Amino acid sequence: MQNKPIVVMKQMPILVLNSGSSSIKFSLFQASGSERSKLFEGAVDGIGTDRGKFWIKDASGKKLRDETPALPTRNVAFKLVADALGQPPFPYPAAIGHRMVAGGPHLTRHQRITPEVLDEMELNVAFAPLHTPIAVYIMREAEILFPGVPNFVCFDTAFHTTIPEVAQRFAIPEQYWEKGVRRYGAHGISYESIVYQLGKDVPERLIVAHLGNGSSITAIKHGKSLDTSMGLTPTGGLISGTRTGDIDPGVLLYILRDITGGADELETIVAKKSGLLGTSQLSNDMRELRDAVAAGNQHAAMAVAQFAYSVKKFIGSYIGVLGGLDMLVFTGGIGENDIAARREICAGLEHLGIIIDAKRNDVRGEAVISSEASPVLVRVIPPAEDLLIANHAYKMMQEA
Ligand code: AMP
Repeated sequence: MQNKPIVVMKQMPILVLNSGSSSIKFSLFQASGSERSKLFEGAVDGIGTDRGKFWIKDASGKKLRDETPALPTRNVAFKLVADALGQPPFPYPAAIGHRMVAGGPHLTRHQRITPEVLDEMELNVAFAPLHTPIAVYIMREAEILFPGVPNFVCFDTAFHTTIPEVAQRFAIPEQYWEKGVRRYGAHGISYESIVYQLGKDVPERLIVAHLGNGSSITAIKHGKSLDTSMGLTPTGGLISGTRTGDIDPGVLLYILRDITGGADELETIVAKKSGLLGTSQLSNDMRELRDAVAAGNQHAAMAVAQFAYSVKKFIGSYIGVLGGLDMLVFTGGIGENDIAARREICAGLEHLGIIIDAKRNDVRGEAVISSEASPVLVRVIPPAEDLLIANHAYKMMQEA
């Protein structure tokens, strides 16, 4: 199968697709020159459950679709999206941009999707085992349901290719480094979007904490990734909703010897049953944990405390790596909305120049939350991953 030639238009509608384990989020942008306007956004959510949702809203926030369809499979869910977007008032896309967590050692550049690129991504499932099969499936479907429209992929790992080798390497035998076993990081498009939004205000020494269902943190020097908490896969680094984060390898060996299911069972334990869920024995959702803490649940309190502790430790070590700090940014669902998490993480970091103002921190969404006296500017900035992907797709269309 050969890719069709690219047709560049003055006004270019760009569809951005971001597929997760049970959802497909999408945005439709109109791009022209340096102008980008988001026309519509929406999602199908609850795929494979009996709580399917489908919604689309326009730029003013008006809901054009708001339904609870049966979504037994991804196939049904994506067909629903493609059918809806194939009709007015939605302009037919001139390009489609996809988010991808990791493509393995040879695919780290944002690029046009070709049959070879798809095959290579499938060969490298091990680098993001929970994400890659779904994302590649949606990419293949997009080529069928939007025939003739060029598809582009943006890798989270792309932003982290600037990490120096000393921080990329694990201290394991050389043969694994040669096989591509190294720190790739994740959430790169989110980090790139924070740097993009900061524009000329990007400081020399920046830490961005992307705290959501999956959490990671990155040290950024002069706008470039210097180190990041996630490793070969998104399982390393900070404690996440269901993932362990960094863990003594001896613990993995201990568990492996204790279970019968081998590597697959171990993967389920470290990636799906650990983190906030594992410690709380209740939920991976921070809102539910906060409610449980308020009701006196000690396990939930430990999970929340452990989470804040893991972020605090990384901030301290990244201040060391950066040689000081000018700005700390919180982003992601928890970073943007959980006032208590930001307070708990920053408590005790005053001697490192991080001083939160309680009133300013009492906010959800974009804000400066540090006090006037704080040497480090602390901000909350929502990520703009879909805009970043639209930008890259537009640029690649122009260059093609
Ligand atoms: P994300 O993966 O970025 O969508 O973030 C999801 C996480 O953000 C979940 O743990 C949510 O519970 C958490 N979250 C969203 N809104 C709030 C809120 N108002 N307070 C606390 N946590 C929140």
